[in-house]
Amino acid sequence: MTQNSHLILAPYACSDATSRGQLHNENPPSHRTLYQRDRDRIIHSAAFRRLEYKTQVFVNHEGDLFRTRLTHSIEVAQIGRSIARELQLNEDLTEAIALSHDLGHTPFGHAGQTALNKCMKEYGGFEHNLQSLRIVDSLEERYADFKGINLTFESREGILKHCSVKNAKLLGELGQRFLNNTQPSLEAQLTNLADEIAYSNHDIDDGLRYGLLSFDEMMEATLFRQQYEYVVKKYPDQNKRILTHEIIRRMISHMVVDLIENSKKNILSANPQSPDDVRNHDKPLIAFSDELQQQATELKQFMFKTLYRHYRVHRMSIKASQTITALFDVFIKDLRILPPEAQQHCRSLFEKEGDNGNIRGVADYIAGMTDRFAIVEYERIFNPRQLSMINLIP
Ligand code: MG
Repeated sequence: MTQNSHLILAPYACSDATSRGQLHNENPPSHRTLYQRDRDRIIHSAAFRRLEYKTQVFVNHEGDLFRTRLTHSIEVAQIGRSIARELQLNEDLTEAIALSHDLGHTPFGHAGQTALNKCMKEYGGFEHNLQSLRIVDSLEERYADFKGINLTFESREGILKHCSVKNAKLLGELGQRFLNNTQPSLEAQLTNLADEIAYSNHDIDDGLRYGLLSFDEMMEATLFRQQYEYVVKKYPDQNKRILTHEIIRRMISHMVVDLIENSKKNILSANPQSPDDVRNHDKPLIAFSDELQQQATELKQFMFKTLYRHYRVHRMSIKASQTITALFDVFIKDLRILPPEAQQHCRSLFEKEGDNGNIRGVADYIAGMTDRFAIVEYERIFNPRQLSMINLIP
């Protein structure tokens, strides 16, 4: 057992004692753990503040109550930490991974990422997990001694949820697990599922509130129907708002409890004695029971069919895709219309990587935009009404 953050950690939890360290050598922090310091660095990064104005599913300015990437990340941290504490895993590391897992998202959610990936097809593609890693490893500029925010291996391992074999080969130690088919830490595994629990539930909440989903439609999804039947029976006279919250909090709780109980069973039977035992196990130990996994898959499929393909969401996706593609095309044709810092960034990548470096620099610039900045930048470049001196004011 290792003492960390005044909590007793299980031997298979990540801890300062077993950390594989950072990219650049630094003195260990004196009044906090390595993972607390990672978490603190993430919170103070510019990329983290941008999450407030980035789309989760609905464009940020469409309604004040919609989840954004920031509130989504905070919900993932909340769910992740509860699970971590119950399993005696490292809560600070879980929080660091949760708060940084979406840093690399483009503006306009998945539509933005798909569009940018298409634009980058000839130049190595664009993948938001890899972009999150790029942000913490090099794009954040806050320290005199190194680029990036120099997180620990364990936080970086958690950020890199997926990776192609081609890209994994370029990532050294961090890419190994995608080549050898090994597992990440339990903290990374659980944050991945906390992400799924968070978005499945908050997207239902957003969808119901804004009338894009109805209770009737939702009956198709077992996880929802079970809780709906219980809640309606218990509170027959309650209004829809309260019923929705009662159903969703029970759904979250049901999924979390299943995950904790099933993972405890898996851990007990695999009996890992260190984080490396976890990594070398043939499959993830943090997992839903088979029954719940099936219901969670059913829910995801239902959400794809209804909410994510709803015509109002789809319209937003088409507009987002046009905006990203137009910006990309115009920037790569003439880098001189980029702001000076972005030009400088392209130049430094060009020196290292040639023409592809320039283009990667454009992708970094676009990916770093918030929704509203992308819209304003599009207007500035393409709206002829903006052909005035006002464009000279930064
Ligand atoms: Mg997420």
